[in-house]
Amino acid sequence: MTHGTIVAAFGRQYEVLRDDTGETTRCFPRAKKSNFACGDRVAIAAAGDVIDELLPRRNLLYRADAFKEKLIAANLTQVVIVVATEPGFNDELITRCLCAAESQDIQALIVLNKCDLSDSLPLAREALRPFAEIGYPVLELSAKEDVSALRERLQGEISLLVGQSGMGKSTLTNALIPEAQAATREISTVLDSGKHTTTHARLYKLPEGGALIDSPGLQVFGLAQLGTGELEASFREIRELLGTCRFRDCGHAKEPDCAVLQAVAQGRMHPRRHKTLLALLAEKRASITALY
Ligand code: GDP
Ligand code: ZN
Repeated sequence: MTHGTIVAAFGRQYEVLRDDTGETTRCFPRAKKSNFACGDRVAIAAAGDVIDELLPRRNLLYRADAFKEKLIAANLTQVVIVVATEPGFNDELITRCLCAAESQDIQALIVLNKCDLSDSLPLAREALRPFAEIGYPVLELSAKEDVSALRERLQGEISLLVGQSGMGKSTLTNALIPEAQAATREISTVLDSGKHTTTHARLYKLPEGGALIDSPGLQVFGLAQLGTGELEASFREIRELLGTCRFRDCGHAKEPDCAVLQAVAQGRMHPRRHKTLLALLAEKRASITALY
């Protein structure tokens, strides 16, 4: 018996990076209903290709419309959200990523890429100010020029890289991990179809320690598994205010003596963050209604 890390999932097959040999092998789970995520730690038979069991998870991120089997990644210490000076990015998506990270106790880092495009830099900085103001680190760089500042922030962490398409996530991944391109090619030959390479998360060990999980395409994180209180608490700027509204079931929309609305009025919560909070709460109510 040895342990390993799930590097990639292909239906019922998993690529596992073995602790004993440091090599990657293709394995099948012993139990039919098993469902592992990229980054999961598993026990595997010393010889052969069977995954015996899942080791305890530190955390787990789901895809949106979170049916439990739709897993993105497990055992993360950091979520890296890639945005760019251009084209424009969606700040509601950033908040969704941040909420998912907060709810699972994972630190977040926002990377502003394409900073060589100096014309659009001031506007992008301005768009990220609501996040910087509440303490999220924003790292400015240009994937085409120098990624060493990000490399430093990845050292020793297990990071998930996310971003809307066009933000330069592939350029960044290829600069950080030269074998990323080679690995993609290898998978497409094995599966005899390039399609799979664009829909699966993949874990890469970093030479300087730690790992990077690249999840191609846009990941909208599922927040459906969070209760209303947990969802509210994933907004760090209002966390300590929760429970202080006049009404215990306050919707923070137009209720009198709402601590969250006061925070917005006082500039402690950005209006755009408040708008996203209300949207997420409305989604939650809709999904709860759908259950009955
Ligand atoms: P992805 O969809 O997020 O994977 O984005 P890509 O890596 O494919 O990049 C999208 C476009 O942005 C491509 O045309 C890249 O060449 C360009 N790009 C990526 N990084 C930079 C950068 O740092 N500076 C500039 N000017 N362009 C970049
Ligand atoms: Zn309230």
